[in-house]
Amino acid sequence: MQADVIIQDLMDLLAIPSPTGHATAAGDFCADRLAGFGLEVRRTARGAVVAKVPGSAGGAARALTAHVDTLGAMVAEVMADGRLRLAPIGGLPAPSCDGAYVEVLTQGGPLTGTILPELASVHVFGPRYDEQKRTWQEMRLRLDRSVRSREEALALGVRPGDFVTLDPRAQLTPDGFVKSRFLDDKACAAALLAAARDVVQGPAPTRTTYLHFSVFEEVGLGAPAGIPLDVEEVVAVDMAAVGAGQASDEHHVTVCAKDSGGPYDFALRRRLVALAEASGIPCVEDIYPYYASDATAAARSGRDLRIGLFGLGVDASHTHERTHRDALLGTAQLALAYLRER
Ligand SMILES: [Zn+2]
Repeated sequence: MQADVIIQDLMDLLAIPSPTGHATAAGDFCADRLAGFGLEVRRTARGAVVAKVPGSAGGAARALTAHVDTLGAMVAEVMADGRLRLAPIGGLPAPSCDGAYVEVLTQGGPLTGTILPELASVHVFGPRYDEQKRTWQEMRLRLDRSVRSREEALALGVRPGDFVTLDPRAQLTPDGFVKSRFLDDKACAAALLAAARDVVQGPAPTRTTYLHFSVFEEVGLGAPAGIPLDVEEVVAVDMAAVGAGQASDEHHVTVCAKDSGGPYDFALRRRLVALAEASGIPCVEDIYPYYASDATAAARSGRDLRIGLFGLGVDASHTHERTHRDALLGTAQLALAYLRER
């Protein structure tokens, strides 16, 4: 398994804008890849991608799920001066969007622009620039067109409800760090694709496992739909929370013990850690204070499921994210070890 291949898939995925609710193209990317590996692929009504990795033995099936939808925004109001007020999609913090380059997806095509605070010109507003609030109520989208009024913006086709996508700002650094706004969860999706590529090249696995790529995770609606009915164990492959006080970091895979939704299945957690140790994958266990995964969402749908969560450490999550190729590779290797579990 090669980190370079995973990083290339990740860069390709990051280049596809996919805010929750407008993520079909990112799903198409995964579906095409999986079909190319020879797997049976289907799409759910909501647009999730489900591929089956058949096992040689009977018994209950499992599922690995990653999400390819990302944070984003929508036009909430076309203002009198032609600037746009936005509403976030998912947990996108407004201050992190100060200066973001964006596209507004109008009926007539995309228009570029920049998200700025209301009092953006330092030479005009002086100290008020520092003092102003940066909530979504104050932030504005400035279109890159000569627009001075609501009427002129409307004439360009801009309407409330238009999706706004942020420049993913993807970079690979010489030291092996990967930076982008949207490593959550495209990094894990790319890792899952790498595991799928490898598993089909080896002997048939023992257990049947579905690979599920959801497109509604950031609003809590990803995996409740589309997990096949013969599944009794769902493992979300999603970013680990990095910061002061956390065991997780950008070089390790974390197996999550507990998040805001409560503890994950203990026996499954031990199996994941044992698989990582047996494969020599750098791994830690951790809890996340403000976090909910698609596995929890699946269990909340009322299904009787064992749930688990693992994934690479991402610093500055939901803002200016960064991880390292070590953790990207480790996540793909652990997904492969799980697929090959006897
Ligand atoms: Zn995520």
